[in-house]
Amino acid sequence: MELNEYQTKASSTAIYPNKGNNLIYPVLGLCGESGEVAEKVKKMIRDDNGILSSERREALKKELGDILWYVSATACELNFTLDEIAQSNIDKLFKRKEENKLKGNGDNR
Ligand SMILES: [Mg+2]
Repeated sequence: MELNEYQTKASSTAIYPNKGNNLIYPVLGLCGESGEVAEKVKKMIRDDNGILSSERREALKKELGDILWYVSATACELNFTLDEIAQSNIDKLFKRKEENKLKGNGDNR
């Protein structure tokens, strides 16, 4: 599936107050789902000696999907397509790679 196709389909499942003028809602969801990923990895350490089971791997796949959904919704609120965001990110990273600046700090290296 292509990113913009995903975004269109995901948006059709988005139900929240003031959709289209509510940046806060999907950003909070993004933080929550990121926390769910962290929690599952934490429990992998606590309960499974740090070994990733196939069940936990599948659970993480679902959580990553939830993150993608909220990234998509956040992008919609900001009037960006997922393609634009992906391209911008890759452009940034490849520029850093070419300049040998992948390591280090700062958003605008
Ligand atoms: Mg979730």
